[in-house]
Amino acid sequence: MTAVESYIELIRRTREAATLGSCASVLGWDERVYMPRAGSSFRGDQMALLAKMAHEMSIAPEVGEALAAVEGSDLVRDPETDAAVNVREIRRAYDRSVKLPKALVEELARVTTRAQQAWQEARQANDFPSFRPWLEKVVALKREEAQAVGFKEHPYDALLDEYEPGTTASEIKQVFAGLSAELVPLISAISESKRKPDKQILQRDFPVELQKVFGTSAAAAIGFDFSAGRLDVTTHPFCSGIGPGDCRITTRYNPRFFNESLFGILHEAGHGLYEQGLDPEHFGAPLGSYCSLGIHESQSRLWENQVGRGRPFWEHFFPRAQQIFVDALSGVKFDDFYFAINEVKPSFIRVEADEATYNLHIILRFELELGLMSGDLKPADLPGAWNEKFSRMFDLTPPDERQGFLQDIHWSMGGIGYFPTYTLGNLYAAQFMTQARRDLEGLEDDFRRGDFLRLKTWLNEKIHRPGRRWRANDLCKRITGKPLGHKALIHHLRDKYAMLYGTTTMITG
Ligand code: ZN
Repeated sequence: MTAVESYIELIRRTREAATLGSCASVLGWDERVYMPRAGSSFRGDQMALLAKMAHEMSIAPEVGEALAAVEGSDLVRDPETDAAVNVREIRRAYDRSVKLPKALVEELARVTTRAQQAWQEARQANDFPSFRPWLEKVVALKREEAQAVGFKEHPYDALLDEYEPGTTASEIKQVFAGLSAELVPLISAISESKRKPDKQILQRDFPVELQKVFGTSAAAAIGFDFSAGRLDVTTHPFCSGIGPGDCRITTRYNPRFFNESLFGILHEAGHGLYEQGLDPEHFGAPLGSYCSLGIHESQSRLWENQVGRGRPFWEHFFPRAQQIFVDALSGVKFDDFYFAINEVKPSFIRVEADEATYNLHIILRFELELGLMSGDLKPADLPGAWNEKFSRMFDLTPPDERQGFLQDIHWSMGGIGYFPTYTLGNLYAAQFMTQARRDLEGLEDDFRRGDFLRLKTWLNEKIHRPGRRWRANDLCKRITGKPLGHKALIHHLRDKYAMLYGTTTMITG
């Protein structure tokens, strides 16, 4: 076979594996939206079969042979060509897969399935001892995985590489340290402020049917294409990019709380816009795939927080919300509503946290995970370490384990290394948005008219279309001229809360 033929074969195989993966996505979506409860065990069999087939496809020796035939050929001489980018990324994924012993992959799948059940029960009952042996097993297996994959500095890097290719723990540590140094004083200044929003405005009757109408219109306004997507209801909201022309998002409705579905929909629609903006020509290949989880999250946070919690957005949407939610919002002043949706208040649960304190939840988890992976922190000592850190950072003591270290599913799933991508998303979102405002003059006036097309097109061109062409931090440098830092996010938060809470904090450069 010539190098060109080998490349065609390589892409055919990659696309086939992605198509199989998309079948699993449809089943996963169905499982959470429609499937009757009694079908869960059989669905498990279906999913396990697909996962096994996908794994076999990904480690097939033919992939390695095709890669070897293409690498070093003229086809990939220029590293900027489509072929070179695809080959580089397929190699990366292939090497990672073949380094993992089959026994370890199977053991991880088996242990994490049972650990998730154990976690669910332990969380319900505030019973860490019943979960502890499972956590110990998961952590031991993840440390083994890091050894198998290999790393230069910290075993954490090997796990991070799966979610945030090319980013290291020490880079994240540095950015988070800068963020934390400025965020902590800002949050204390807000806590000490005499001004408080009237949150009760948001806790009135918001009929679910009307929330659906309002949320759907907001998602459509920012550009989510409903002819190529759906919005459904699930307990835990998610976005599933199934393939070209099919991207599904979900939400949950709380009839007595405005924020839950609306900001959830904007968040998932932001993920959805990324999926809908990927190049369908390259479906299945790295050039048609998202860059990293941090970049994916930047797209959801950008629409949810940077745009969706901003004044211009609500100058357009608030009068419409008042027309729809007549009982709850007529007579409510714009400024009171805007303050209420932007309340900052330290709390126990990550997923309910506001735009500012959210990042402290992530920094705490990241620091604990580093300890678990290096071996400095034993899983048995996690509850104490969590509470000690939490009291120091939030000035609150978790009343129980459920509202403390047992709140998240990630560790039981083996998702160590995943948490930092949420705050990376916030940081990237702020930096991208700062640049978009520079590139697109009068952008806020667009928002005041309910027009989001220029921003969406900018994101399509700069972030969505390139797929995996560049690593996250390189993408950031290309778009904003700078590597990822904490300044853009801090400026955004400081400006917003200065207006609302009258806070001023020292600017340190
Ligand atoms: Zn998200």
